[in-house]
Parts: sequence; structure tokens; C-alpha cells
Amino acid sequence: MTSDGKWSFFPLFFRVADRRVLVVGGGEVAARKVRLLARSRARIEIVARELNEELLALSEAQAVRHLGTEFEASRLDSCALVIAATDDPELNRRIAAEADARGIPVNAVDDPQASSFVTPSIVDRWPVVIAIGTEGLAPVLGRRLREKLETLLPAAYGRLAQFMGERRERVQQALAQPQRRGLWERFLDSPGAEAVLSGAAEAAADAELQKLLDGEPVRGEVYLVGAGPGDPDLLTFRALRLMQQCDVVLYDALLPSSILDLVRRDAERIYVGKRRARHTLPQEQINSELVRLALEGKRVLRLKGGDPFVFGRGGEEIQELAAAGIPFQVVPGITAANGCAAYAGIPLTHRDHAQACIFVTGHQRADGKLALHWDALARPGQTVVIYMGLNSLPELCQALIEHGLPTDWPAAVVEQGTSVNQRVIAATLGTLAAEVQAAQVQGPALTIVGSVVSLRDQLRWFDKA
Ligand code: SAH
Repeated sequence: MTSDGKWSFFPLFFRVADRRVLVVGGGEVAARKVRLLARSRARIEIVARELNEELLALSEAQAVRHLGTEFEASRLDSCALVIAATDDPELNRRIAAEADARGIPVNAVDDPQASSFVTPSIVDRWPVVIAIGTEGLAPVLGRRLREKLETLLPAAYGRLAQFMGERRERVQQALAQPQRRGLWERFLDSPGAEAVLSGAAEAAADAELQKLLDGEPVRGEVYLVGAGPGDPDLLTFRALRLMQQCDVVLYDALLPSSILDLVRRDAERIYVGKRRARHTLPQEQINSELVRLALEGKRVLRLKGGDPFVFGRGGEEIQELAAAGIPFQVVPGITAANGCAAYAGIPLTHRDHAQACIFVTGHQRADGKLALHWDALARPGQTVVIYMGLNSLPELCQALIEHGLPTDWPAAVVEQGTSVNQRVIAATLGTLAAEVQAAQVQGPALTIVGSVVSLRDQLRWFDKA
């Protein structure tokens, strides 16, 4: 098994279903191996002086058999696989030697030299399983790689594999190679695969597969995706997946390039702007553009800052899509209020400060006035978050004071929240507007009003300079 101090393993998937697998040892390490084995439907037998709670429960549920307390070589007879997982390395080595002599594959835990096989770390999307091994040289590196793959692969990959497996025969009967392979390739890029991954009804995916079999053109669809407030780390897995498979993206002004860079490279990009008073495309035109592109069979990504349903006009966009019969998905994003609050160290609610949190728009009406229910906003015991309120900030603070909040009531503005350029100006209703003006805040900026703002000094550990 070793040569020149190096060992080499041949990767394989070994069928142990309905076969005897002997585990020697009854502690946490043994339990970890048993947990994995249990899913392979092996007949697990354990020799151990004592079983830990988990193994005891499995034994009582008859998921494993506790054969006895002492290891004897005769226990190895007719075993398919042996795992030596006692806390005695000497004993593990002896068990390994006995198993090896009988030609039975054996793993002595933490002792690759004595083992004839090792168990790799795995990324489990059953029935898709990825094994990672480093030949025992760098297990920590292996684990790191595993973490990366875990975040890369949608949890529903297994479901997708199963879906495809269950339809293999149907496709096999309909098509010969290489058309068959081509069909599956197209399926993986189609709304059908996306339907399976997003957990939609299988019928939708089946209909897409049938269209591919019938040679019909692929149907377009729209993904209305929230990209969060700016820090790309705040994207969801689903947002990233859809960003990487769209054919065309329509994006807003607020999206930083660090997020746009994550969109599929060869996707067409359409800037639809939307900063106050500088609308690049009016909303109606965006809506009809989405419909037009989807009807061309494209997978259209409508990428929006924050959450699409929070002051994002996402509702209007999907109304139009629904009316045109175009399939769509809405992917929530972290809204500016959540992102800014967390990164500024201001909890939106707090037992001692705020039992409610209200999101309002500070966007002025055509006559330049704010149409807000001031009496409902100017109350203690709640947090008020104002989106799009930078221009109306003086009027806003003034109105809250006039409707009963004290002049020294805490209030803050967070500019470019969650980005590396984030600035927080924490003041009071009486002073905030002047301080913001003096600091030449440009936006995007969010205003947070409420006594929770006073907690910031205790809670911001990260940008204390
Ligand atoms: N749908 C978005 C909001 C769009 S309205 C969301 O859920 O966050 C645009 C307003 O959001 C801006 O005027 C500003 O008030 C706020 N905003 C968005 N991103 C922000 C950021 N990174 N920092 C501060 N405010 C932000």
C-alpha cells in the first residue's frame, strides 16, 4: 500500500447495500462513519465495549447490530468492509492487518498507512456525490475545497439528477446518440432544469422536456432578482445561479460593477437606469422590453438593487409578465434597510427600543411634497426607515418633530450601505439634515429614525476608528 512513504488510492464507489460492514468502536468517530454507512443501506454490525448515545439509539431502532464487546478475528468472516474506529491505535492497526490478510478492504481511522481505503470528504447531493481526497496530505485543504463546492452547487442538484434519471428511458426511446446527448445539454440550459432546481411542479419541467423532444423552440422566461444593497457577498445562491445562466440582463443604476461582473460574460447587457429624475428607460418601456425579450425565447434577468418587492416596482413588472403569459421567478434580495442596519450596527428592532419597524418612501410627489402619515410615523417604540429620502431630508425631520418626536430623537443616514464606501452619519432629528449636507452625502442613502440608532456606539465593532 505504500512506497517511498507515499500511498496511493484508487477512487471508486463501492456497493455495500445489503452486505455486512463491521465497525469496531462505539464513540463519536465510529458514529460518524456509521452515519455515512447507514445511507448506503449496508448491514452495519458493531463491536464495541460501549456505544455512545447516537449508536445506542440506532441499535435500539435496529438500524445497526451490536455484536459484542471484544474484537475477535472471526468477526471478519464474510464482511464486505471493515472500519477500525476504536480509540486504541494499536488495536486499530491489528484489526486492519487481520482484515487485510483476509483481503477485506479496511479503514483504520486517522491512519492511512494502515488502511487499504480512506473515506474522502464528500459533497452530497445524492444521487450526485462528489468525493474529495488529498491522499491524507492536506485534509484541511480538502475541507476548504469542499466548502467551496458546497456553495457552488444548488441543493437541488440531486433532485435534478433524479428527474433526469427517471426520464432517461423515455429519451432513449425517442432519440439516438448524439442527439440524445444534445437534448440533455439543451435541457440543462432550459427553463425545465431551472423549474426542477427552483422546486416548481415537475409537470412544468416535463412540459419543457417534451418541447425539446418535439423540437419546439425553447420558451423564454424572466428572473426578477434582488441583488442586495451592494456587497456581492450578500447575493443569494439562487441569484448567483440565475445571473450565471441568463442570456440578457436588464440592470439598474444602483448596481455596483462587483455584482455585474458575476453575470454570465456573454450575456447581453441593457442598462435601464432609474436614478431619481434621470430615468433612462421609463417603467412602461422596461416592462414591455422584458416581455419582448422573453418572447424571443431568451432567459431574461431583471437585476434589481435590494429586494425586488421593496420599493422596486417588481410588482408592476410581473403583472405585465403574467398578463403576457410569460413564466417568471422572483428571487428575494437583502433590502437596503436590512443591509444598512446590519453594516452600520443599528438593529431595526430591539426589545428595549422598538417593537415595530416601518419602511416608507421619502420620494416627493410631483408637487414636491411628501405624502406620508406623519402621526403614525412620529411615535416612540418604533423604527422608521426612509428610502429615497435624501432630497427631502430637511422636510422629513421637520415634520417628524412637528408631529411630536423630540428634537434630540436619534436619527442616522447610511450612505452606500454595505459597500467599502459606506458612511454613517448618526445625529438627531434636529441636526441630521445639516450634518448630512456638510458631509456632502451623495447617495444612495437610507435614513433610519428611532432610538435604536443610539445603540450604534455599542454595536459597531468593525468601523471603530
Ligand atoms: N429595492 C431596493 C430599494 C430601491 S429604492 C431595496 O430593497 O433596497 C432606492 C433607495 O434604496 C435609495 O434611494 C436608497 O434610499 C435605498 N438604497 C438602496 N441601496 C442602498 C445602499 N447601498 N445604501 C443606502 N441606501 C440604499
